[in-house]
Amino acid sequence: MPTPNAATGLPRKVLIIGGGFAGLELARGLANDNRFEVTLIDRTNHHLFQPLLYQVATASLAAPDIARSIRQILENARNVTVLMDEVTSIEPDEKRATGLSGTVYTYDYLLLAAGARTSYFGNDAWAAHTMGLKSLADAQNIRRTVLSNLERAELTTDEAERTRLMTVAIIGGGPTGVELAGAFADLIHRSLKSNFRRIDTTKLRVILIEGSNHILEIYDNDQSIYARQHLESIGVEVRTQTKVTNVRAGALEFLDGSTLEASAIIWAAGVAANPLTQCIGVPTDRGGRITPNPDLSIPGRPEIFVAGDLVSMRDREDKPVPGVAPAATQMGAHLAKLLKEELRLEAKGFTGNKHDLRPKFRYFDKGMMAIIGKNHAVVKAGKMRLRGLMAWLAWLFVHILFLVGFRNKLAVLLGWAYSYLRNNPEARVIVYPPTSSRP
Ligand SMILES: Cc1cc2nc3c(=O)[nH]c(=O)nc-3n(C[C@H](O)[C@H](O)[C@H](O)COP(=O)(O)OP(=O)(O)OC[C@H]3O[C@@H](n4cnc5c(N)ncnc54)[C@H](O)[C@@H]3O)c2cc1C
Repeated sequence: MPTPNAATGLPRKVLIIGGGFAGLELARGLANDNRFEVTLIDRTNHHLFQPLLYQVATASLAAPDIARSIRQILENARNVTVLMDEVTSIEPDEKRATGLSGTVYTYDYLLLAAGARTSYFGNDAWAAHTMGLKSLADAQNIRRTVLSNLERAELTTDEAERTRLMTVAIIGGGPTGVELAGAFADLIHRSLKSNFRRIDTTKLRVILIEGSNHILEIYDNDQSIYARQHLESIGVEVRTQTKVTNVRAGALEFLDGSTLEASAIIWAAGVAANPLTQCIGVPTDRGGRITPNPDLSIPGRPEIFVAGDLVSMRDREDKPVPGVAPAATQMGAHLAKLLKEELRLEAKGFTGNKHDLRPKFRYFDKGMMAIIGKNHAVVKAGKMRLRGLMAWLAWLFVHILFLVGFRNKLAVLLGWAYSYLRNNPEARVIVYPPTSSRP
């Protein structure tokens, strides 16, 4: 139990909604500081390392390799209570939030860090016929669908059905679409080729569909051209300037009137903020994100903060702060410092408006990287540009570093690296085929 705060007599109640990168970092930053009584609520019981979700979707990693129980991560933080609940509403005037369980959570400070969700840009009906990639369940669904389709293709004697079963369409040529396309091409054309007797897995089509002129638009032009050339060299069909106008069960329709039949359609074309941002009573942008004050508090609500993928703001160079894990982590760390400093000022008897003294959030851009199949990647960091093997090694190094700290199980990492280097991903077991009745 937290001990009472000397200045107020009570510890401050900090409510964190979301145990992702931002929420977890704030909880860690306040851990064992008895001036705070922290409650972290997440609708899942785990923190998820989303940058490696595509590896679960493409059978290179198992789910536990990229997720860890939030309760376990925070087991030594004695002033932090972790609860699994889905927050359904926030009532800022009453300083409280309500969960799906019916529980009401009150707070002195609130951090809304519930992350992003898949967005269909107003075409919500498409969700029923496509698979998103935001959660472990999504990744397992993609893997199950593609692997099950290959099994069905091995069974069928109908050539047209076999072609349909062996077509994977990925909509969206950003980093997620590119990483998925490259990994699927590697899985199918390298790893699975000797596993089937009736079908030729090299005939499986992986089609990457992008509405604009280039894939990886946020990278330099030559990096995006390089990514396209490499994907094509490993068998991915890249279609740019191709606008999807409709998605039906097992088929896509395009602006030019053509259609494509595909048994697996993956939507990697857009995300929007968690709808909880609508509860705060401030304007949001088209993606549902909030523009906070420079300290990350909500205009007119100094006790409510927003962080991570829910934030729309610009950095010192007037570039948008991207929706990436380092930005979310930095925001969580910034808020931990801010809250501690605020209580320190209070304890010293400061009587002015302490909110005016709050530090501004400064984003430190560490660059970005995208993997394009085995041995190939692109890196853009400051003035540095890498591509090919060097970029891939940099990617591997950064992600292994992250995971070691994250899961602390070197054995899992070595096992993954071993199967990756041998072209032999292990996570190919289909637990619930899509046609079975699940328990
Ligand atoms: C496929 C994919 C690949 C990515 N690759 C990269 C990459 O290579 N590099 C990179 O830097 N970034 C990458 N990102 C982006 C990065 O993962 C996000 O920017 C980061 O996770 C944002 O952190 P966050 O704390 O805002 O939200 P999240 O990490 O998304 O966490 C939000 C948490 O809130 C919980 N939650 C949501 N709604 C509720 C609710 N109503 N009640 C309670 N809990 C709730 C969720 O369960 C989740 O745990 C990738 C994202 C995806 C989806």
